[in-house]
Amino acid sequence: MTERSYKEKLVLIGCMLGVVGFIPFTIYRFVNGDYLLAFIESCLAISILGIFFYVRRTHKVEVPAVILCLLFLGAMVAVVHIKGPNLIYWAYPSTLACFCILKARTAAIFGILSLLLLFPALYPALEGQEVILICVTLTMLCLFGYTFTKISYNQHVELSKLAARDGLTGAWNRRSLDHAIDQLFNKRQRMTINASLIIMDIDHFKKINDTYGHAVGDEILIKIADLLKSSVRISDQIYRYGGEEFVLIAEGEDLKQAAVIAESLRSRIEKSELIEGQKVTISLGVAELTQASTPEQWITLADEALYQAKRKGRNRFCLAKESIMKKAA
Ligand code: GH3
Ligand code: MG
Ligand code: MG
Repeated sequence: MTERSYKEKLVLIGCMLGVVGFIPFTIYRFVNGDYLLAFIESCLAISILGIFFYVRRTHKVEVPAVILCLLFLGAMVAVVHIKGPNLIYWAYPSTLACFCILKARTAAIFGILSLLLLFPALYPALEGQEVILICVTLTMLCLFGYTFTKISYNQHVELSKLAARDGLTGAWNRRSLDHAIDQLFNKRQRMTINASLIIMDIDHFKKINDTYGHAVGDEILIKIADLLKSSVRISDQIYRYGGEEFVLIAEGEDLKQAAVIAESLRSRIEKSELIEGQKVTISLGVAELTQASTPEQWITLADEALYQAKRKGRNRFCLAKESIMKKAA
């Protein structure tokens, strides 16, 4: 099952709260014969339910989030116009909901717009002082909402980056790799796709550490990660799989095409003079998506091919299962 994004969860929770919040009021209005409001709230609850199931099924969230907030605010403005300013209390939760669900700027624009639309319903009915109080408190809510949402969104982006990247090399980390592989397998259930997994391991890296020191070892890791990143297509990602192991998921490439990529990466690392007078090389294992039925099996296949490359003498790549070994030129 695809993991739900942060925003998706917020929209689903917003929908659930919206429906649960409206139902008691709808029943109350029916019982009291307030059929117009009962009708508006029923339509609203049904629309929100529709958004809930749409987001749950499709995982699409941007447009439904905007529609949901427009429904909240639109219903609130309509109800205040129809029933009078004593229903203004609904403006506070609906404005707050927008700040929880939308980006700070969009929510602030929606909040201010709804306040402007509310104004004609408030002014003749209430005293000037009360109207000012409502406008000031709603504006304050928008200001606090904007500041808080902006800060927490920036923190969320920063934390997501930290959680997804390797601290030393800046490559994507193991967690991101697992996520990317899961997503590929999910996608494969819906459509025909292919991809190849290339696992790379620096040869005799322990010896490099022992000879030149751990700091130089770290530097080599950073440089190799940079070299790999600059050698692949922008759409392909490099992951740090373990200590001195990296992974590339080559999307759209079968085993044969991935073999060409593996050879070019091997040759590029071999030719780069990472340490003066000392060759730094890598061994690689390649497996095609179609060879595996589970994510674990795909990694195991590539890993086995890598160990085969090591056994055959390093500085080369091997292809999964078929045991086709290509020796370095
Ligand atoms: P092989 O060719 O069989 O892969 O030999 P190897 O020496 O590369 O493999 P081994 O697994 O024996 O050693 C891996 C070394 O990688 C040991 C460990 O200290 C080093 N290593 C792992 N992570 C880091 C790191 O972040 N920085 C540095 N400098 N070294 C690391
Ligand atoms: Mg290793
Ligand atoms: Mg190694």
